[in-house]
Amino acid sequence: MEQTLVVLKPDAILRGLTGELLGRFERAGLKLVAAKMVQVDKGLAEKHYPADREEWLKLLGHKTLDNYKELKKDTKAEMGTDDPLKLGHMVRGWLLDYISSGPVFAAVLEGPHAVELVRKITGHTLPFKADPGTIRGDYSFDSSHLANTGKRAIKNLIHASGNLEEAKYEIPLWFSKEEIAKYERSEEKAMK
Ligand code: ADP
Ligand code: MG
Repeated sequence: MEQTLVVLKPDAILRGLTGELLGRFERAGLKLVAAKMVQVDKGLAEKHYPADREEWLKLLGHKTLDNYKELKKDTKAEMGTDDPLKLGHMVRGWLLDYISSGPVFAAVLEGPHAVELVRKITGHTLPFKADPGTIRGDYSFDSSHLANTGKRAIKNLIHASGNLEEAKYEIPLWFSKEEIAKYERSEEKAMK
């Protein structure tokens, strides 16, 4: 049994997709155990996307590099650098702006293999690469190139914890213990 954090990002809220997106997780059998609307301040944004997580920052940079390479675009010419860590820091700055640009909807979902299952339903980070049927594949076509030439983060509607360790770090950032509910869903017995 696992718990994982999802955050419907400002573009999802502005597009009126909150119910639709949450419904997809509920339909898959995931249990909603905490939920609230939040206006993210700088402190929470900085903690949610930590500046000292170098491996993650390099991965962010590589997502830009790979996407530019595929499009046969020159990253250094367009972005001023092709160093993955520097690109990662650049993207992180845009991410802080993005997550705090409007209200978000944060939720904790619980279930067997919840982290992996939620990632699967969410889809690939780059929406143009996300499979149809996933949230990012069904509702967006954004890419690193589109985003980075606009000097912004990729608008991919949703954050989902990347692994169990991330989930354990993120959930207490967003919710106190008291905000997390315990109950049994009526069909739990049927799904056992
Ligand atoms: P995920 O959200 O799939 O776990 P990451 O943790 O790697 O992806 O990145 C966090 C968020 O940063 C992504 O959801 C996306 O909004 C944004 N992002 C990731 N890579 C890039 C990039 N190369 N350019 C712009 N934004 C990016
Ligand atoms: Mg991530």
